[in-house]
Amino acid sequence: MPPDRLGISRFIPTSRLSLLRQVADLSAGFGSPAYLVGGFVRDALLGKPINDFDLVIEGDATKLGRALVQKHGGRVTVHAPFKTATWFPSHRPERSEARSKGEDDFIDLISARSETYEHPAALPTVKLGSLADDLRRRDFTINAMAVRLDGDHFGELADPLGGRIDLERGLVRVLHLNSFVDDPTRLFRAVRYAARYDFQLESSTEALIPAALKYVDKLSPERLRHELDLIFEEEDSVPMLEKLWTLGIIQQVHPALPSDEATRARVRGVVLVLTAVENPVHFRWAVWLMGLMPKEIRALSKRLHFSAELLRAASAASSVFAELKSIAKLRPSGCVRRLNGLPEDALWAVSVCAEGEARSNLEMYLKKWKSMKPYATGETLFEMGVPFGPRVGEILWRLRAAWLDGEVTSEEGERKLMEKLIE
Ligand code: ATP
Repeated sequence: MPPDRLGISRFIPTSRLSLLRQVADLSAGFGSPAYLVGGFVRDALLGKPINDFDLVIEGDATKLGRALVQKHGGRVTVHAPFKTATWFPSHRPERSEARSKGEDDFIDLISARSETYEHPAALPTVKLGSLADDLRRRDFTINAMAVRLDGDHFGELADPLGGRIDLERGLVRVLHLNSFVDDPTRLFRAVRYAARYDFQLESSTEALIPAALKYVDKLSPERLRHELDLIFEEEDSVPMLEKLWTLGIIQQVHPALPSDEATRARVRGVVLVLTAVENPVHFRWAVWLMGLMPKEIRALSKRLHFSAELLRAASAASSVFAELKSIAKLRPSGCVRRLNGLPEDALWAVSVCAEGEARSNLEMYLKKWKSMKPYATGETLFEMGVPFGPRVGEILWRLRAAWLDGEVTSEEGERKLMEKLIE
């Protein structure tokens, strides 16, 4: 067994490790070393849990993909323009199926490449390149390291840009002066990594930010929203938003995106109701945007291409937030009538930002009232002689409202009310 200089094997599940070794050993035979790169190396050196195993081949990954099938079987899919391939070692599910089943028996093979940018915020022009080129195209030194995987080289660190020392010092540093202009998404990424690891933006990197701000405007809706979504997927997104505000980055995204003190205080004060919330990203967007007018939400949705679901969540949060005073006065049945069908992550967001009666009404709706139903169904009413039609719905709603408002507290009581309503 070759030496594992950095002890990386303990970060790789055994089944994945043996696949990676098969790939790397065959690849090295062609004179094309294979490396794990980017987040894997960063997090392994930090001793943090790892989700990503990004593999880069110094050579043509599509050729390697075909050779893997010849030697070890399985099948390969190839994306010729970018010289990437995916190897499925056994003839098992398609990639998306495998992912949805949580299986990991495929390996993405990426050819090392160099990238150049025609103009600020453009998508890069890509060419095959060396490992050094591939590391140079990356965002920060801490993300620009690689470990080699073949034979006796297993675990060798390639760190031509000083990533390891920046990791030790806790610094996020770009690789060149034009980095943020080439790709302004890196402004968001820099802040995200710094806050995630409690690192600093290295001082000359931070000094590049003011001049790059104007290029945020050039980013496509998808790229911008993706970066903001990534922030909302983090365990603690609040310090990231704070820093984006302080540096003036958020303010470049869209004038309607709120950065006033009241909004900032609300965002700071909210604790994610993890057990109840289904989609934390929508919950956090809702907390941020609930103070906006519908018109502003629509403008933001256009700039950031919100999904239909996110637009619904943000709109519901804003309309309910604007009505908190009247929601505080509603009886339970009134709450159900008003809130029925609205996205629950948005309602949770408003409830944790509300106070007094409004908060308790929202919470009661989410925890209890929304699922309170009478015993009777349409069938019961039909058996009692009520023909199918709108009256059925009206009577069932009256019964439900009576339960909600405490006018009925037993099956017997419900029956009596039902008979009265049918008369
Ligand atoms: P995490 O997923 O934990 O945030 P990661 O490093 O895995 O971190 P990815 O977004 O999956 O992040 O990107 C993988 C690697 O690709 C990064 O480590 C970095 O080297 C490179 N990379 C990603 N985005 C950019 C970018 N905008 N500019 C340059 N390099 C990038």
